[in-house]
Amino acid sequence: MNKHAGAVAELVEQLGRLPGVGRKSAERLAFHLLRVSETEALALAESIRRVRQDVRYCATCFNLAESETCAICALPDRDATRLCIVEQPRDLMSLEQAGIFKGVYHVLLGRIAPLDGIGPDQLTIDDLVERVRVGNFVEIIMATNPTVEGDGTSLYISNLLSEFPVEITRLARGITAGSVLEYANREMIADALTGRQKL
Ligand SMILES: [Zn+2]
Repeated sequence: MNKHAGAVAELVEQLGRLPGVGRKSAERLAFHLLRVSETEALALAESIRRVRQDVRYCATCFNLAESETCAICALPDRDATRLCIVEQPRDLMSLEQAGIFKGVYHVLLGRIAPLDGIGPDQLTIDDLVERVRVGNFVEIIMATNPTVEGDGTSLYISNLLSEFPVEITRLARGITAGSVLEYANREMIADALTGRQKL
C-alpha cells in the first residue's frame, strides 16, 4: 500500500517512472519539490510543458528544434558538404561538445533493430537518401553507435548511398565496440572523428 496520500503519492509515482529514479529517489525529489518555493517548483512544471509543446524535430536533419529548423542547420558557417549520420539527438550533442566537426548532421531517430521490430522505414532513412540526392555532399560520416545494431544500420545505409558520388567514412574505433557515443568522453569522440576511416 502507498504510504503517501493523494497528490504527493501521485507525484512520487510519476517521478518513480523516470529512468534511473527508484522509489527512494522519487520520494526525495517529491519532498524537495514541496520544500522549495512555489516559483521554483512550478518552473520545473513549466519546463516540462514547454519541452513537450515547443520542441519538435528539425525539418532538415531531425535534430531537436524549437522552430522549423534546428540551431545547427540555421548556422550559415557550417560545412554543407559533410554530413554526419547519428542515431539520436543526444549523439549529435555529444559530437557537438567535442567541437571538431563543422559539417551538418542527419539524425536517424533510432537504429535498425529487427528483434525490436524496428525496420528501416521507421527511421528517417528516406529523408536522408533524398537529402543526399539533392545535396552537394562530398563526405558522409557514419557515426552510428559501435553496437551490432548500429553497425548493421550503418552498413544498410552505406549500401543505399553507394549509388551517389560521395565518400562514405565511419568514426575510428577509438570508441570501443559496444560503448555508446552518449557516454564517450570528449577526447575519445574527437579522436574518433579525426581518425575516421573509409567505409
Ligand atoms: Zn537541423
